Amino acid sequence: MKFCDRGARSFAPQHVLIPHLVLLCVTFWSLTRNGRAQESVNAGPPDPQIVTVLMQISPVRMQAAVEKLVGFQTRSTLSAQDAQSIASGKGIGAAREWIRSEFARYSRECGGCLEVKTDTFTEAPAERIPKPTEITNVYAVLKGTDPESSKRIVLVTGHYDSRNSDTLDTTSSAPGANDDASGTAVSLECARVLSKLKFPATIIFLTVAGEEQGLVGSRHFAQMAKAAGWNIEAVLNNDIVGGDRSAQQDTRVVRVFSEGVPVSATDDDLRLIRNLGGENDSASRELARYIAQVGRTYDAGIRPLLVSRPDRYLRGGDHLAFNRERYTAVRFTEFLEDFHHQHQDIRTENGIEYGDLPKFVNFDYAANVTRLNAATLASLASAPAPPANVHLFLKQLENDSTLTWEPSLGGRAAEYEVLWRATTSPEWEHVQPVGTALRITLPQSKDNVIFAVRAVDKAGHRSLPMVPLPER
Ligand SMILES: [Zn+2]
Repeated sequence: MKFCDRGARSFAPQHVLIPHLVLLCVTFWSLTRNGRAQESVNAGPPDPQIVTVLMQISPVRMQAAVEKLVGFQTRSTLSAQDAQSIASGKGIGAAREWIRSEFARYSRECGGCLEVKTDTFTEAPAERIPKPTEITNVYAVLKGTDPESSKRIVLVTGHYDSRNSDTLDTTSSAPGANDDASGTAVSLECARVLSKLKFPATIIFLTVAGEEQGLVGSRHFAQMAKAAGWNIEAVLNNDIVGGDRSAQQDTRVVRVFSEGVPVSATDDDLRLIRNLGGENDSASRELARYIAQVGRTYDAGIRPLLVSRPDRYLRGGDHLAFNRERYTAVRFTEFLEDFHHQHQDIRTENGIEYGDLPKFVNFDYAANVTRLNAATLASLASAPAPPANVHLFLKQLENDSTLTWEPSLGGRAAEYEVLWRATTSPEWEHVQPVGTALRITLPQSKDNVIFAVRAVDKAGHRSLPMVPLPER
């Protein structure tokens, strides 16, 4: 009855609950005949270690990190980064050195478990870069403990550069508390708490510069990763996650943006997407759905609101630089932005306060967003690799559907699950455990639903789902 109760609540307001309860339970019973029907497929049972670590995420630390970053006065990518400015604690160079020292401190606290690294390059002059400019991304690597699984990487990122009204202003105050000291603080706080655990797969905690000059830092990092053949399975970009304290803010919700048709799709990819109706099943969209599942498995204090769009209307962010290199990447952003508090010189005009100041940031909100990120990173880094080469058989016309796949690499999968949903449904609706089988025939027409297969380890950690390719 518990299951029916949950289903009824999510479908009907309280006052119509009782008359419809019996009917709903009958409906769910008929759905469960073919697989375990769930109104909300989740990411498995909560892992007690992950639950414990989420409790260590602290709004006080988020606030301290944001205020420290704001204290550098400006973090314009074009601002000073010479030894003198670093010593005086002003400019992007000083911010960079502080981030590096924070990662190094967390590493000392975990017996050197983090490798602290920088990715430095000189960007040639461009529209928002008047002269050759050295740009440095700072990151920490928590290497996976399993030799095969450690080649799989999950990554969290935020941009530590800031700007005011003029993108080319290199000296005036540019606090960037929400945009994007908040996202930088997510990477830092995730590194601090997750470095207390060990995971089979690798986690990278990244902070980039050059975002406000045109995603320059993330583009360099994504291209470097691609050239080096890094298997980055998921990128979580946090940009403006401070939950601005405007009256209309909904502190219960954080938006998760994901691309539908991949920006990197080739003509062949596009043909396939058109023919299969695959425009709602990019790898990044599957990651967004996974985050929704994590949000149901763990109580992060905040609910992800999936937005089926690469970013805010015709706007951009660092996840897109990863998408362009064919990486799976999504963006977290607060529910409601206050544009008086973004990309603005600090001033008051007609009674309106402008500027991206810490006093507008809700640190409880930012801590909850961090919990959702940390739960997602920990779930993915604990999970087995997704099953490889998932295919849907088309050798003959039939109303059943036969799926095949190859074992999850690394040998950590204890079983597999097939997921499916109606073509019009935003999230996975049904899950069928299939044990260690690598082939299953289901009495469901492939014409009416979308399938995926995911791997599950002994403890119940779920991989990202893989949508099948047709096999003729
Ligand atoms: Zn930003």
